[in-house]
Amino acid sequence: MHLSPLGISPDKCLIAGRWVAPVSGETLPLENPSDGTTLCEIARGGATDINAAVQAAETALQGEWGRATAAERGRLLARIGQLVLEHTEMLAELEALDVGKPLKQARADVIALARYMEFYAGSADKLHGQTIPYMEGYTVYTLREPHGVTGHIIPWNYPMQIIGRSVGAALATGNACVLKPAEEACLTALAFGEIARRAGLPDGALNVVPGLGAEAGAALTEHEGVHHISFTGSVGVGKLIQRVASEHVVPVTLELGGKSPQVVFADADLDAALPFLVNAGIQNAGQTCSASSRILVHRSRYDEVLAAMAGRYSGLRAGPAMSDLDLGPLVSQRQKDIVEGFIAKGSDLEVAAQGQVVDGAPRGGAYVAPTLFGAVAPDHTLAQDEIFGPVQVVIPFDDEDHAVAIANGTKFGLVASCWTKDGARAMRMAKRLRAGQVFLNNYGAGGGVELPFGGTGLSGHGREKGFEALYGFTTLKTVAAFHG
Ligand code: ADP
Repeated sequence: MHLSPLGISPDKCLIAGRWVAPVSGETLPLENPSDGTTLCEIARGGATDINAAVQAAETALQGEWGRATAAERGRLLARIGQLVLEHTEMLAELEALDVGKPLKQARADVIALARYMEFYAGSADKLHGQTIPYMEGYTVYTLREPHGVTGHIIPWNYPMQIIGRSVGAALATGNACVLKPAEEACLTALAFGEIARRAGLPDGALNVVPGLGAEAGAALTEHEGVHHISFTGSVGVGKLIQRVASEHVVPVTLELGGKSPQVVFADADLDAALPFLVNAGIQNAGQTCSASSRILVHRSRYDEVLAAMAGRYSGLRAGPAMSDLDLGPLVSQRQKDIVEGFIAKGSDLEVAAQGQVVDGAPRGGAYVAPTLFGAVAPDHTLAQDEIFGPVQVVIPFDDEDHAVAIANGTKFGLVASCWTKDGARAMRMAKRLRAGQVFLNNYGAGGGVELPFGGTGLSGHGREKGFEALYGFTTLKTVAAFHG
């Protein structure tokens, strides 16, 4: 399989601007989650390939890329964004096939990737240091400098969006990147590497090495030539990466998912809330870090909200990515087994409603019917653990304090939202909810490339997206000049 019309082969790595086979010559099968067949073989990059990629990045920093001005970096990113848009249909199809997401959701991801390039293109020459008033005879100022070589270990759920937010900000600030996409979905990462190359990004400024987490991922984390690691993925691997990176005292940005609540008060506008309550749980088949998997409802409207959500669930359809329904399959059979394991743990609960897997969906596909559980106790496994599938729980609450206690009562803290017509309550809730992002009378605000994103607690630390990310991808130098 060639990534047409780019004409590159997915069993290669992009290192120093060239497409090369991994030194081992080995490949890994890439699963098509819509039917269980093998889409193609991808490169099984290892420590030697990662080492070559890190060296290529270091060489780029010492060459043309390291000397590029902020304005030149911005112009390059703008060109990359433009080329991404010109390849919208190809990228959307690759993402849909690879991840299993419905085509229109994949298309939205391409638009987001291009928008990240546009945003970071425009911000590259707006980041600057400060002057600091100091003692007589001194002039003191700060410089924002790139870390150097940045490692980007990304997951399979939103490859393009996560490349956009992390590689976009890293390149804007003058770092050179080594990108390790997930073994379950790496086709758009490869295509992006080629698009960036064709846009004129100097060799080695972006290297892409697919492979297994325990091999290529671990090699990147352990490499002493890497100066910053950006990781999005599971809590377990995030902890491991932080531990390993501490060996070289390398800063890490971790985005590890969540158990994000939406709190519906008695005065909420249910017509406005309903699409957000459901979509935030089932988009990308629930495989979203910021998925809203817990819906907290004031007891006075609990029956009404549950019935309204159940009505929507009954109409949901899951089927092949290319059929472009409400949901595609999960990313793999393995993920399907994990999610079905969670649903089985809810056998003591009331299933309020389920959507359907369409007739004719291939038997080998990783389909799970979206499932809504009602009257779930806040300490139930399904209300505490991240499921990463199309499963939501509805939990009643009695008053504001009770809602806050339940909303903040998990180990995560990524996103939260609150639905109420009482402006004072909304402002109070924004302060009281433990989360990196709080939405008032909406959820997600349309994805928001401009909005800093990241968590607290087990959801991780550091912020990506928005201008804020530029601080994370730079290090601050203070210069104190004595001139008498
Ligand atoms: P998930 O459980 O959702 O698949 P993971 O956290 O396992 O998420 O994977 C996210 C990314 O982390 C992937 O690119 C994967 O290859 C990588 N990864 C997995 N294990 C390791 C590891 N030990 N070291 C570095 N990266 C890893």
